This record gives sequence, structure tokens and C-alpha cells, in this order.
Amino acid sequence: MKASKKKTKKETETLSNKKPEKLVDKKGIRLDGRKLDELRPVKMKVGVLPNADGSAYLEQGRNKILVGVYGPKEAHPRHIAQQDRAVIQCRYHMAPFSVDERKSPAPSRRDIELSKVIREALEPAVFLEYYPKTSIQVYIEILQADGGTRCAGITTAALALADAGIPMRDLVVACAAGKADGKIALDLMDTEDKIGDADVPVAYMPNLEAVTLLQMDGNLSPDEFEKAISMAIDGCKQLYAQQKEALKSKYVIEEAEEE
Ligand code: ADP
Repeated sequence: MKASKKKTKKETETLSNKKPEKLVDKKGIRLDGRKLDELRPVKMKVGVLPNADGSAYLEQGRNKILVGVYGPKEAHPRHIAQQDRAVIQCRYHMAPFSVDERKSPAPSRRDIELSKVIREALEPAVFLEYYPKTSIQVYIEILQADGGTRCAGITTAALALADAGIPMRDLVVACAAGKADGKIALDLMDTEDKIGDADVPVAYMPNLEAVTLLQMDGNLSPDEFEKAISMAIDGCKQLYAQQKEALKSKYVIEEAEEE
């Protein structure tokens, strides 16, 4: 069947590997029509998988991410168990159909690295000491990827942990800022990430005001780096408001409905 929706020139350039001439126009507008400090459109939902103990689904621009959480339950294999706390086992996985060309379903080096950094970004938020010798399993499935999936994966995983009823000090929310066409920009999509000059993913606990992940890919001056971090934290705060809404829409029963 032929796709009936005609893509605009901008969309076609963004979706194909063709290198666009400019990432940001004279008015400071990006390829997808966003301003420099604007997030991609975001949708979040919790409790989407009846078979997992906790789950969440997120769309951020063209990213589509599903997370299922299990536990805390007895750690297997036994040797991974810690006497004084729970361990988080985290798997970030990109589906073969998540990118333009079919990706091998086997875990890549990148999947393994991202599983580790995402686990480390989530650990400070969870009261691991409440559940010694157990494990909490976090399965992150990237159904469609368009840049910034480690951050979107963290935001979704924190929601799924909360949905599983796992006690947490704070939610964790993540967002990247970077540099495209010499300008600092929030929440880079894939084309901006690949052609742009730098990307700074930040994970943040908004109530504790603590950063749990900070990475940088590319080159930035110290001033640009500070601007990128502060823009990324502003993005995190906006995403946090949506995380709370997603949790409320499942767990808070409005008075009107109670009557
Ligand atoms: P992040 O998704 O956190 O930005 P990277 O910077 O490593 O992580 O990747 C940026 C983007 O590159 C991904 O979101 C995805 O759109 C794309 N990408 C990653 N791996 C592949 C792959 N194997 N094939 C095609 N595109 C990929």
C-alpha cells in the first residue's frame, strides 16, 4: 500500500540521511519548527503493560519507548545479590525496526553501555536499602529512535519504577541539550545530534536538585557547556511536570469521579 501522506521537504530531509544545509534558520527556528529552547512534543502514560509489575510508555518527537519493571524479587543468579541492598538490572534494547535500517536484534556495545549509564542514573533515586538480596529489573525497549533515547529511556523507566510501587526519594527525569549550527539547543533530534557539534545528556532528580547522569559528546566552550546544562535542567523540569501528570492520571481519583 502506498503511503498517502505527502511529506514536506523539511520532513523528508530530516527523515532521510541527506544532510540538510542548515539546522537552524536565521530566525532561530529548527528543522522541525521548534525554537532553540523548545522540547519535542511529549506524551507519557503509566500502567500500559498488565503483565509487568510497573510500566510506562513515552513518545518524544519520533521516539517511542516502552518500559516494563519487575520486582523487587529474589536476585538471580544468586551471585549478583547484595547483602545490604537491592540491585537494579537494567536492559536498554533497540528494536530492529527502531531505526531506518534494520538493526541486529542482538545487544550491541551501545545497548550494553546505555544499559549501564541508565542504571547508574536511576540508582540514586531508589531506596535500594529497603530490599536487601533482591533485584529490580528494568526493561527499556526502544520501539522507534530519533535521538535522545538514553534520556527518554530514563524518564520512562523512572515512571515505570514509580508505577511498580517501588519507594523512591524522587523521580528521575532526563533531557539533553547540545549545539547545532553554533547555537545551544534543547532536546536534539537525530539529525541535529549527528550533524550538530555537541550533545550533553543530563539526568536530574528535580526535588533533590541532584544530577544523576552527565555526559558530553563533542566540543563546547566552558560557557556553552554551562548554558547547555542549564537548558537541559530547564527541559528536565518541564518533563517532570508531565511525569507527575501521567502518574496522577492513573493514581489520583478526581473528586468529581468519587461522588
Ligand atoms: P541517544 O539516543 O541517547 O542520543 P546516541 O547519541 O548514541 O544516543 O544515538 C543517537 C541516535 O542515533 C539514536 O537515538 C538513534 O536515532 C540513532 N542510532 C543509534 N544507533 C543506531 C543504529 N544502529 N542505526 C541507526 N541509527 C542509530
